[in-house]
Formats: sequence, structure tokens, C-alpha cells
Amino acid sequence: MADPRRAIPGVDRLLAQPWCRLLIGSRGRVWITARVRAVLDDVRAGAVPVPDSVADYEELVQMEVARAETLSLRSVINATGVILHTNLGRAPIAPEARDAMRAAGGYGNVEFDLDTGERGSRYSHCAGLVTELLGAGDALVVNNGAGAVAVALTAHAAGKGVAVSHGELVEIGGGFRIPEVVEAAGARLVTVGTTNRTRLEDYARAVEAGGVGAILKVHRSNFSMSGFTEEATLAELVRLGTGAEVPVIHDLGSGLLVDSGRLGLPYEPTPAQSVAAGVDLVAFSGDKLLGGPQAGILAGKAGGVARARANPLCRALRCDKVTLAGLEATLTLYRNPDRAMERVPVLRMITARVEDLELSAHKVVRVVAGLRAEAGAEPLRLEVVRGRSLVGGGTFPDARLPTAVLRIEAGSAAERWMAALRAHAPPIVARSRQGRILIDFRTLGAGGDFIVAAALSGLDADAPGGE
Ligand SMILES: *Cc1c(COP(=O)(O)O)cnc(C)c1O
Repeated sequence: MADPRRAIPGVDRLLAQPWCRLLIGSRGRVWITARVRAVLDDVRAGAVPVPDSVADYEELVQMEVARAETLSLRSVINATGVILHTNLGRAPIAPEARDAMRAAGGYGNVEFDLDTGERGSRYSHCAGLVTELLGAGDALVVNNGAGAVAVALTAHAAGKGVAVSHGELVEIGGGFRIPEVVEAAGARLVTVGTTNRTRLEDYARAVEAGGVGAILKVHRSNFSMSGFTEEATLAELVRLGTGAEVPVIHDLGSGLLVDSGRLGLPYEPTPAQSVAAGVDLVAFSGDKLLGGPQAGILAGKAGGVARARANPLCRALRCDKVTLAGLEATLTLYRNPDRAMERVPVLRMITARVEDLELSAHKVVRVVAGLRAEAGAEPLRLEVVRGRSLVGGGTFPDARLPTAVLRIEAGSAAERWMAALRAHAPPIVARSRQGRILIDFRTLGAGGDFIVAAALSGLDADAPGGE
């Protein structure tokens, strides 16, 4: 038999086809030529069967064009059960925030005052809402939480000392280490107390020694300490700071805007409490427990915020109009905490009832069984079991939320099926352990269960031996 590869057409022959000329018209000759070459390389390498005719190359070229046009940053289904999954973009935002962000893509009054027709301030947009929600004197929004801390320290303590408890020299994910942040702010770290116990007197001694430009309290977001421990309260530090005219900065991290009791989780301090305690500045993230877009928020006394706003680093870390729009829409939901609990996906996911997640998982089992039977595909070995979700994002390190997990016995097919789930449109990111694929229903989001059902019914059927 003749080698079928001898019948493979040349690049020019394909480029001259009417369908190819249409593609060239919309995408340009150079780029389509590269796509055609890629297809021909695949065919020659035996990666795909040799098409029977020149016309049959159209589908291959169209597929290659679609592949090459897929955006790098895509929307995925989070089946990991980690709600604030940093690798998956942390907080999924509320529909109201998505709408606002889409609308903000065009022109907007970002730095324009519509009342006077004069230049306005970018920093005016969310400030009113934050001060209203927290009872703060003023507020400032920058690019992220780390940026907010950096701006606060640079503005208040550059060239001076920053007093921090030994027990709060923490590392947040992504290499954000308090000693390095203090150093990057041009300040000098003055550690006080010990790892497990730091008292007010420890701070007082450091302040009395002179040269301290700020007292920094850091929330140990991502780990907990128990046993023989002691720490100074914010109120004590504020009293010390006020007497000595040293600003108190609170790096709070997550920015929970509802009472943690509503989440059914252990106590978690809120920025409103920091403000009420009288700190000069509290810094927190927009995309952790607040459930908005990536942003860093500084709130507190008017003078402390003004000083941060005037620092050049604030300009360097400013956030864009799309973020401001999404954050404003998210913050608006918190005017009514009940509404925030319903509309902010992070809060919804934290409080979802395991019984409801189980119902949804059982429904997917039935739908997948039905669809696979209809398609004549081998049934999958599926079971709904209890598992534990995590809040993630360096928050509530000890909390485990009881959840419903769909467990798929995949055996030796586990890796292949995980890859198939990632290749699904939209991609599904799950966990796997010892030949089992685990789909946590807590983090799937609205409509995610249907997408999972569709993906599972399409998994190839050569049945794995469950070991
Ligand atoms: C998460 C966190 C940060 C950093 O915030 P990003 O928004 O991730 O930049 C800073 N401090 C604390 C205590 C945190 O938990």
C-alpha cells in the first residue's frame, strides 16, 4: 500500500482553498500560514490521521485556529473546595460587581467631577462607602492588600522604626513577609516581645527608646497560636500610640465586613472593629473575605489616610477603573448585610448547607448516569461522600466546612480524566487522590453542577480497574 503521507498537500495548495482565503481575510496571511503549517506538521508527524481530500483539511485548520485564539486567562470551575483559591483568582465576585466591571470598560468619570465639570479624584470613588460601612474618618483604595500595608508604612514610618511583635513577623502567601515589607518601606524593624507573649509594656519600652514612627499590629491570618500566649489589644496599643503621638497601623488581611458569627465560623476580627478601637489605619484586601475584586483598602483617621494618599507609592499602586467599579458594586451590597450574605459568592459558599450540596451532588449522579446510558457509554463509578472544604486565602486556617464530595473511582484513568476535565470548556479544576477524583460541590458556583455533569458524561469509557 502506498504511504498515505505522500498525498499530503503543500502549504500553498491549502492557502488557495476558498475556506482558507476567508480565514486569511479575517486573520491575516502570516498568521493563517503559521496555523496551516502547524496542521501539516501534525499530519506528517502522525498526530492526526491523514485527511482523504484537501477539503477535509478545513476542519483541522479551523480547530487549530480556535486553539490558537483561546485566551490565556479563562474562566474555570473550581471543584477543589477551597473557596478563596489563590491559584484560581481568589474571590469569585458578585453578579452586581461583574456587571459594573463590564460597564466600566469604556470611558467613565474616573477622575472627573460630573457636578462641576472639573478634574476629580480617582480616590473619591469607594472612599465614601468604606467610611460609611466602617465608621472611619477616611479611606483609600489601592491595588492590593500588600500594597496598602506598604503605602501605610512608607507614608508614616520611612526612615524611622516600626514596632512589631515577635509573634507577628508572619509570611503571607506569595512571599509577603512582614520584616521585608518594613524594610522595603524604608523603615527599620523594631521587634518587641517574644514569639508567644508580647505585652503592652514591650511596645511601650520600644516607643520610649525613641525613633519609632509606627506601631504595626499584624493579624496572624494563616496560622493560629495557642497555649501560653498573650498579646496587647488594639485598644491598648491605641492608648499608647495616642499618648506618644505614634500612629497605630493594623494589617488585618482579610477584610470581613459582616460579623463572623453569621458565618458559623470561629471569631474573626473586622475592619470596623479596628476603626472603632481607634487605629490610625487598618489595611485589608478586597478579594479575600470581602469577596470583591483584587484591591487593598486603607481606612482610619482622616489625617492618617491623607498622609498615605499623598505618598508617591500610592500613585504607583493605584487601581484601575474596572476594579473601582467592581469594588464599589460589592461594597454597596454590604449596606444591607442580609443582602451581602445572599449576593456575595464567598459568603454564600461559606454558609452553604451541606444538605443542599448533597442534593445537588446526587442530582448530578443521576444526570450523568442518564446521559451516559443514553450515549451507550460505560457507567462511571460515582459516590457522594462527606468531605471538608477550606475557606482558603490565608483565612480561617483551622476551619473545616463539612461538604458534599462527588467521588469518582478512576483507577489508572485518574490522570487522564483530570486532564480531560481541565480540557473541558469551561475547564474544571478538581482534586485527585489515589485513583479517585474528588469534586467538592461547595465551590462550584451557580450552574457549576450542570457543567460538571456535562463533563462527566463525556469522559471516555474504557473502564478503569478501581484499585
Ligand atoms: C493577605 C494578607 C495580606 C496581603 O494582601 P493581598 O491582597 O494578598 O496583597 C497582607 N496582610 C495580611 C495579614 C494578609 O492576610
